[in-house]
Amino acid sequence: MKNRLRPVVLVASILALGTLVARRLGYKVGGNTVVRCREGHLFTTIWVPGVKLKAIDLGVARIQRCPVAGHWSLVVPVRDSELTEEQRRSAAQHHDVRIP
Ligand SMILES: [Zn+2]
Repeated sequence: MKNRLRPVVLVASILALGTLVARRLGYKVGGNTVVRCREGHLFTTIWVPGVKLKAIDLGVARIQRCPVAGHWSLVVPVRDSELTEEQRRSAAQHHDVRIP
């Protein structure tokens, strides 16, 4: 029983750590997060690290549909402090579809 629980605890620890590290770096992950696609479009998405349990989804980057131009792209979270007021407004106007 002890040994069967260990991988679960390990994964949970890594995910919690990933969220903490991302927060320390100034990323507002764990909810509505402003992200930038490879073409520079800014939009808001729900970013909960680890929910999908994919390596690509650990808070660094992930592939998803960009609602600004309607294309698939690698997106990365943007530090809130790096955004201008205008960029923040623009990102707030573009929100991807909330897929449960
Ligand atoms: Zn885009």
